[in-house]
Amino acid sequence: MNDVATNILEVSDLCVDYASTTSFGVTGAPSVRAVKGISLTLQRGETLSLVGESGCGKSTTAMAILQLTPPSGGRVVFDGRDITSFSHRQMRPLRREMQVIYQDPFGSLNPRMTIADLIAEPMAIQGVGRSGHERRAKAAELLDTVGMGTRFLDRYPHQLSGGQRQRVAIARALSLRPKLLICDEPTAALDGPNGQKIMELLREVGRAPDRCVVIVTHDSRIFHFGDRMANLTDGRIVSIETITREGNA
Ligand code: ADP
Repeated sequence: MNDVATNILEVSDLCVDYASTTSFGVTGAPSVRAVKGISLTLQRGETLSLVGESGCGKSTTAMAILQLTPPSGGRVVFDGRDITSFSHRQMRPLRREMQVIYQDPFGSLNPRMTIADLIAEPMAIQGVGRSGHERRAKAAELLDTVGMGTRFLDRYPHQLSGGQRQRVAIARALSLRPKLLICDEPTAALDGPNGQKIMELLREVGRAPDRCVVIVTHDSRIFHFGDRMANLTDGRIVSIETITREGNA
């Protein structure tokens, strides 16, 4: 079972159908297949970019991998377990191992919470850490991991730049030590240099020995940041390329 040991994610022949709706909002018309048989594998320590034009099925693929959108066919094996037929209840303990980062960190960060509390919140909910004190110490450590100093611990989201907010969102996601991190257009709200720095951070994050990262993006400037790049067109992977970095490993 060597594959189970090295692969965190195995997706085979994944399909997703959406019920179509008429212009009057009436359902019943034939469904539309948004994802048409996607297969991919992610090893530990690997970052895969899922790229393609808007509407080609990237987000639907990501949501189906997370079982947040029900697949119509195919299989998703996460860390050796076939989760395709898992109920919400069965998925619950796995949720902490599968974290998502969205394009707009401001929308996902409660403006009334300090950065320390925002990073500690998922740990508190999941019962990670013995005390608030311990979780704050962990939050400080995570801020350091994402390239921010502990001076930010008692600040609020509105006092941070877009790039810093995205770093906080990453620290928050990492607080639960996820095995799979899915980043949906993580640089969309950032300018070029800040987007680049976030991608460099995500690449580092993805190199952790017990983690893999999926970057969903239509931004060609960040296509090459992963280890591999899967090109999607009309719900299908048309190619998977290995990214080589000369003198910049
Ligand atoms: P991408 O992430 O590449 O922009 P999506 O996965 O969002 O693409 O969408 C793929 C296709 O599925 C598109 O044609 C989109 O219109 C359609 N779609 C996405 N979400 C829904 C939904 N909730 N209901 C019906 N169709 C949807």
